Amino acid sequence: MFDKKSLENIELIIDNHNEVNGDALNLVSSYYLGVADVLESRIMDISDEEISMMIQVSGKKIYRTIKFPNTFKSSDEVVTFFYLCLAEARKKAPENYPKTRIEIQIEKTLNLDTYITKVKKKRIISSNIIEITFYGGLESLPDLKNDAFMYFIIHKNIDHKYPENFVMQDFRELNAKKDNPYSAAYYTIRSFKDNEIDVWFVLHDHPGPLADWAEKVTEESEVAIWGPRTTFTPPEGTDNFLFIADETAQPAVLASIENSENKGIYRCIFETQDKSSQFECHDTNNCIEWIYRNNDPAGKGSELSKRIEELEMKTDNLYVFGAGEARQISSIRKILKQKFNLKADQMSFTGYWKRTD
Ligand SMILES: Cc1cc2nc3c(=O)[nH]c(=O)nc-3n(C[C@H](O)[C@H](O)[C@H](O)COP(=O)(O)OP(=O)(O)OC[C@H]3O[C@@H](n4cnc5c(N)ncnc54)[C@H](O)[C@@H]3O)c2cc1C
Repeated sequence: MFDKKSLENIELIIDNHNEVNGDALNLVSSYYLGVADVLESRIMDISDEEISMMIQVSGKKIYRTIKFPNTFKSSDEVVTFFYLCLAEARKKAPENYPKTRIEIQIEKTLNLDTYITKVKKKRIISSNIIEITFYGGLESLPDLKNDAFMYFIIHKNIDHKYPENFVMQDFRELNAKKDNPYSAAYYTIRSFKDNEIDVWFVLHDHPGPLADWAEKVTEESEVAIWGPRTTFTPPEGTDNFLFIADETAQPAVLASIENSENKGIYRCIFETQDKSSQFECHDTNNCIEWIYRNNDPAGKGSELSKRIEELEMKTDNLYVFGAGEARQISSIRKILKQKFNLKADQMSFTGYWKRTD
């Protein structure tokens, strides 16, 4: 039997796979389950025993299950097992079968490096965002531009000195054990200069090790960062952009716009707490519209969805980038998809964090 947290995760996993990983589901249906001529696959349900799938083949729907080797207790076990099924399916697929989105993401992580860098200075951006500039140790960090993001591995002792050869694998090994002194989360490079990066940390009302660290660190504190990767990938010829972001994703949006060589129409809908958390920014095209949550907690604001529901826009050459709280962003993706009938490559929606209460 799954616990409450896993049950909530399962809901998001089903949603996410059905919405954005249809290519991986089709690969699994075809070469793990051995169904011929698959047109579309969807996950209907995930229990602690199996994944139930609906598979559309020409003229009919068929139903299949992927049995787990034992009764699973957590959603993490389901995720790992699905990746194993995908790897098995890949072994049996013809050589020219296109790579799925999940496989491309996994490949991108294989050759990433870990960098040890130091805090140079801190600056207040708004009532709940603090900018930290990191310097040194970044000479070979590639500048991917767009919404490049890194995995920040912090130590609970802010004066900790990292071993010179500390790498992501060390964190993974420690993370599998009890009493790991390190914590980690993804953050976006807001701006990139020589051997220096600026990062905006959202200070939130839950006890979170990264937000807490960002508040407490001082000059010369060290951090290990692993990456970079990006998700902002508009199709060629895009000249119409819609960005939807809470505070955590606003750095990604601003960096993507500033780094983009595309000329076109940019429209940003930024959700924030209130006027005090709205920051000053160089918005020459007047393309930012601010939506306040006011008394609603982060991730549960109702004003943003209301605004998206009444949105009017042209969809020619449109690319939508949305990121923020996982459930909130998933419901916004559904509203937009239904309202504007958008194609998969016109949208990139990512849950940047998940509300746990
Ligand atoms: C690709 C990517 C890029 C990101 N870029 C940025 C960025 O540039 N700046 C940034 O601030 N965040 C960014 N995030 C989000 C950040 O990784 C998460 O908010 C992370 O969970 C924060 O870690 P934590 O240790 O503070 O909290 P956690 O230990 O992860 O969570 C502890 C508690 O805090 C809650 N919580 C976590 N984040 C928030 C929040 N923002 N508001 C309210 N409650 C929260 C959780 O629900 C939980 O209850 C990014 C995420 C991704 C995937």
